[in-house]
Amino acid sequence: MTQRTEPLPAQPGIAAANAAVLGRFPFEDTRDLEDARRGFVATASETLVKDGRRVVWDLEAYGFLAADCPDTVNPSLWRQSRLAADHGLFEVTEGIYQVRGFDLSNMTIVEGERGVLVIDPLISSETAAAALALYRAHRGERPVSAVLYTHSHIDHFGGVRGVLGEEDIAAGVPVIAPEGFLEHAVSENVYAGTAMARRAAYMYGAALPKGERGQVGAGLGQTTSTGTVALVPPTLHITATGQSETVDGIRMVFQLTPGTEAPAELNIFFPGHAALCMAENATHNLHNLLTLRGAQVRDPHVWSRYLTEAITLFGGATDVAFASHHWPAWGRERVITFLTEQRDLYGYLHDQTVRMLNQGLTGAEIAERMEMPPALERAWHTHGYYGSVSHNTKAVYQRYLGWFDGNPAHLWEHPPTEAATRYVEFMGGAEQVLRRARQSFADGDYRWVAQVVNHVVFADPDNAEARALQADALEQLGYGSENGTWRNFYLMGALELRDGVLGTPTDTSSPDFLAALTLDQLFGALAIRVDGPGSWDADLAVRWNLRDGEPVTQRLHNGVLTHTTGDGPAVAAPDVTITLDEADLRAVLLGAPDPAALLARAGATVDGDLAVLGELLGHLTAPDPDFAIVTP
Ligand SMILES: [Zn+2]
Repeated sequence: MTQRTEPLPAQPGIAAANAAVLGRFPFEDTRDLEDARRGFVATASETLVKDGRRVVWDLEAYGFLAADCPDTVNPSLWRQSRLAADHGLFEVTEGIYQVRGFDLSNMTIVEGERGVLVIDPLISSETAAAALALYRAHRGERPVSAVLYTHSHIDHFGGVRGVLGEEDIAAGVPVIAPEGFLEHAVSENVYAGTAMARRAAYMYGAALPKGERGQVGAGLGQTTSTGTVALVPPTLHITATGQSETVDGIRMVFQLTPGTEAPAELNIFFPGHAALCMAENATHNLHNLLTLRGAQVRDPHVWSRYLTEAITLFGGATDVAFASHHWPAWGRERVITFLTEQRDLYGYLHDQTVRMLNQGLTGAEIAERMEMPPALERAWHTHGYYGSVSHNTKAVYQRYLGWFDGNPAHLWEHPPTEAATRYVEFMGGAEQVLRRARQSFADGDYRWVAQVVNHVVFADPDNAEARALQADALEQLGYGSENGTWRNFYLMGALELRDGVLGTPTDTSSPDFLAALTLDQLFGALAIRVDGPGSWDADLAVRWNLRDGEPVTQRLHNGVLTHTTGDGPAVAAPDVTITLDEADLRAVLLGAPDPAALLARAGATVDGDLAVLGELLGHLTAPDPDFAIVTP
């Protein structure tokens, strides 16, 4: 049997389910379409944003969304994607502008007495510069008088060097951020960064063709830009709710919201504009309590409480609320309704999940049973385009009870390949499983096909028929998904089953990021690369005498690389002591190709056996940025 490698059309069951969505939700309600276009000034005439010759963003990549929704896309997601793909400069209210559709996130520009405050300068320098240029083309060559990061995610600060030049930084242009910003901006990617990047490639579907059988967006925005990422550390921290700052004549009152959508985040009220910036705490979708790329689980209980606090503090004086994704909401009553529904959304998911887990239901069972209140179903902005009711419910379960559902049958299961081999054998062999799975496919039970054929693929990844059938099933599940990131995950899975592992776009570890890591984080990052079994018998210690800081001693013992600052009983007797500056130590820890030469060049003093350092570094392994996901 020859294997097809091309996508299938939507199967009748999926096409019918997608068509039924049109009758289920209020597509006749066009307020979002009006709001997404409201205040439109202009967009860029140059539609490609480039880094040299490489395209990092294409404003027209989603032009296909202007057509009617095809049967290979959930109409609700199509609608959301079309709204999010709108691009250009928009006036939010007098003196506040947004550039939208130039990246995954929005850049907001507030006009001051002398220049502008830039809030959240996108992911890449190139897209941020293009966004600012568009603003200036229509509002004049105003200088950037301050930058503000609403939170510690890269789509809100990575493009900062596109709006701040070296001379601005040297001149002390203020960079404002919530307390804890820098630590969280870098720490999320230090330890599990490789795995997160690999999974993010699935989540945003970077390798998928854009189009009706491919990537149509990510719900929160279309996708991530791929330009130059940087980080300029904040110079002014917001440390308390109610703190007020005036920059370039712009008065701001802050609300700190740590532990919501990000560990360091804030909302901003502009009394002079009756405008409220909700950062990423209230956007036009149900957000993630646990992002599919992987992260530490967020707290919907706190999130809901901070939304109540925002309404209490600012709701009575707000005429427009905007965020760093999607479009604003205008009118005091609508703003309060919007924030209240968002608040209820997170509160309901939290409370009902906990109620059901206390009745003994497990994560998968709660996800299946959870029904949202009709008013929240009717509101478009509560839909799971980015987060989903299903995976957020499991996240709440995980937050309280962890991975184990309490059933001892699940306590010590065989891992995927070992289980798959046994399943397939018990089920009568691969051919028998595939014959029955094809019947399930014909019956439209794609969820089951994906679940069961996964065993055949994991038992024998070279089984081409199994891979093809699994790809077909994942693809149909993608076509039916309302959630943009689910669609991307399904379609990426199908793509890699057909074409093999496509890898991860190059990582984003910029010099700014590495400079922002603390020494403690750097030592920790080395420790997680130690080949444990390979270094069980090693016992060695290196002492770093910093000319400009406290000494640090690393010890490799029992397969664990620990580090201790200063002196005391935990510090091992060093095999070698190296005296040098912190900058040179950082270069060694970051993997300089020839550490001995580097130390010589740096004028380091070595006391003891330098070969021990080489031995220590020899115990480190490299992470795999291209690990398999849909195959063993
Ligand atoms: Zn964001």
